[in-house]
Amino acid sequence: MSEHPAADLLELFALRRLTASQTWGILLHLDDCANCRAALRIENDFIAAIRAALRDLQP
Ligand SMILES: [Zn+2]
Repeated sequence: MSEHPAADLLELFALRRLTASQTWGILLHLDDCANCRAALRIENDFIAAIRAALRDLQP
């Protein structure tokens, strides 16, 4: 598992203020880390939805 993202990064993530690549990195972490998901109170289907959206952005 990767290191936990900094709290301010998680906050920016929640606000959707990160770049696509930063968002992707955090999503990969959240997929693995129940602690950070709980910290953000993010539901799995919300993550899946963002991921699906990001997947469309991949080259
Ligand atoms: Zn974490």
